[in-house]
Amino acid sequence: MKPVKLGILGCGIAAKDLHWPALKQLKDKFEIVMVCNHTVEKAKEFAQMAGNVPYVTDYKEVLANPQIEAVSILLPIHLNYEVTKEALDAGKHVIVEKPIAANMKEAEAMLGFEEKYKTIMTVAENFRYDPLNIKIKELLDSGSIGTPYSAFWDCFDLLETSNKYAKTQWRIKHQYPGGFITDGGVHNMAVFRDLFGEIDSGKAITKSINPELGEIDSMSFLFNTSQNVSCVFNYYFSSMGHQERKLKILGTQGTMVVEGKNITIKKVNSPDYVETVQSEGGYKEEFENFYGAIRNGEKVKSTFLEAYKDLKALLDALEAAENL
Ligand code: NAP
Repeated sequence: MKPVKLGILGCGIAAKDLHWPALKQLKDKFEIVMVCNHTVEKAKEFAQMAGNVPYVTDYKEVLANPQIEAVSILLPIHLNYEVTKEALDAGKHVIVEKPIAANMKEAEAMLGFEEKYKTIMTVAENFRYDPLNIKIKELLDSGSIGTPYSAFWDCFDLLETSNKYAKTQWRIKHQYPGGFITDGGVHNMAVFRDLFGEIDSGKAITKSINPELGEIDSMSFLFNTSQNVSCVFNYYFSSMGHQERKLKILGTQGTMVVEGKNITIKKVNSPDYVETVQSEGGYKEEFENFYGAIRNGEKVKSTFLEAYKDLKALLDALEAAENL
């Protein structure tokens, strides 16, 4: 089967550091034929890295190129709706980075795209494809800790202003609610939903500790899910002197602790069971699914509907915080 001829829209951090390492392992499935960045240096750099492919500074030129079958959209979040629509209008298959859109109005409009257009569309929510998250689900589904009834996900980071993400101006002067909390938090919402069902109700508190990181940089979200799992999601970007990323799931027969790539199952009177998962974050797997959908009629795993629900869960939390 022929590789999909792919155009890259946006040659920033995600394109270079996350998508390119995956795409270069998938040369039998994707051929990058043109790249675009509105500032020429980044376009040129990526074009060279991808094998001296042509580059342009106006994404409309990529969309107008009949040779290109699919585009990967890696632009500032507030452009997702408009560029996705234009790409679909141009008859391209689309993989667009998360979050699906900058607000619920645009996300809702994008739900209609799955009906309207015949081409493949997916949101690049890599957490849905990450072998680590898939293994967590597999272990829970096999009853390894009994019935899960509570989960705690603590993410304490210190995002200094020198950090590459914090240097991105569209993130600091964000045109979508929640800034970094929304940008990153949709990943966690995808996993919570996948493991424990829809998010039923919740209360949240948000704070701004470092105003240089945008509107808010800290959130605690307490919610219950349709499978009656009570969850606490602590998401903090200005944590001084302590960094941690740990998911703890309490079940009726044991506890699961996930840290790094290790999943530990703890039980009373038994030695811990530890499984280390080989994972590069799920980027390769999301592109494999995109390819399978285009060439072999496979189902898309990260649909616009799923990404819509991830964003809604997160924005509902922000709204709950406002109403507290
Ligand atoms: P970024 O580094 O700012 O990349 C965006 C690129 O788009 C920049 O190079 C920017 O150029 C360019 N650009 C802006 N407006 C443009 C336009 N109208 N036409 C063409 N190019 C334009 O941001 P990023 O970190 O890569 O994030 C991009 C997307 O990836 C976001 O949706 C983000 O949420 C997502 N992301 C996902 C993950 C993940 O793990 N899945 C991680 C990081 C990011 P200039 O910088 O020159 O303005």
